[in-house]
Amino acid sequence: MRLKNRTALITGAGRGIGRAIAEHYAREGARVAIADLDLQTATEAADAIRAAGGEAIALAMDVTDEQAVDDGFKAVADQWGGVDIALANAGIQHIDPIHKLAYADWQKVIDVHLHGAFLVTRAALRQMYAGKGGAMLYMGSVHSVEASPLKSPYVAAKHGLLGLCRAVAKEGAEHKVRSNIICPGFVRTPLVEKQIPEQAKELAISEEEVIRNVMLKNTVDGEFTTVEDVAELAVHLAAFPSSALTGQSIVVSHGWHMQ
Ligand code: NAD
Repeated sequence: MRLKNRTALITGAGRGIGRAIAEHYAREGARVAIADLDLQTATEAADAIRAAGGEAIALAMDVTDEQAVDDGFKAVADQWGGVDIALANAGIQHIDPIHKLAYADWQKVIDVHLHGAFLVTRAALRQMYAGKGGAMLYMGSVHSVEASPLKSPYVAAKHGLLGLCRAVAKEGAEHKVRSNIICPGFVRTPLVEKQIPEQAKELAISEEEVIRNVMLKNTVDGEFTTVEDVAELAVHLAAFPSSALTGQSIVVSHGWHMQ
């Protein structure tokens, strides 16, 4: 019970990595607010946690909508008195070479990852500063520290999150807020399943080659990272007992990137 009596809000937690983290947090004793663009999946995730004996609520939240983000955090404050842990996890991907990339697609990816993370951070810090501090977390990626072709807005946004995380670590310290960023390698969620055929088409190679020669080529063992791997790290970062661990990016990628 490493997160007993803590309240967490996780964005994009209706499915994929965010949902797995919500489940781990609940098993560790946290009350979890599952915020997602898709209220149906958020509700299913919250129902599953409650069925397993945990505490969870579902929130409809588009992280690019300032009012929706503020309303979601207010709902958590009304229900449980404010957040101790916030994880900006919601994300999307777009595959295109830069010379063919529409400005609208660039803007959309930056908007969800970077502008969304800012809105979530601001709302979370207002509650943490008014309370006992807390843990701010970001879902970065190996693409926070490496680039790949065909993903320029994603790579730019994930690099940007490193800066936001570090700025929060500096400003948050006097309010007992720690800030860290999780940087996973490829995890087989819907976000990744969708891009396998897209990359195969763009690179004119088979889907099997995308997996072997693009996604897992530089890992030490040819293995995907799992949602459980990422969730375990997210528990550890949320539960860490002192501000010795702040402003850090932790890569969990089967050795794809070593820092
Ligand atoms: P996913 O597509 O399975 O889940 C993403 C969730 O975010 C969905 O439930 C979706 O509804 C939600 N979402 C999308 N736009 C939103 C918005 N505007 N507001 C609120 N919610 C929104 O993806 P995933 O693989 O679980 O990815 C989660 C995070 O992990 C993302 O930030 C992604 O970039 C990051 N990540 C994923 C991988 C991977 O290999 N899967 C690797 C590194 C980092």
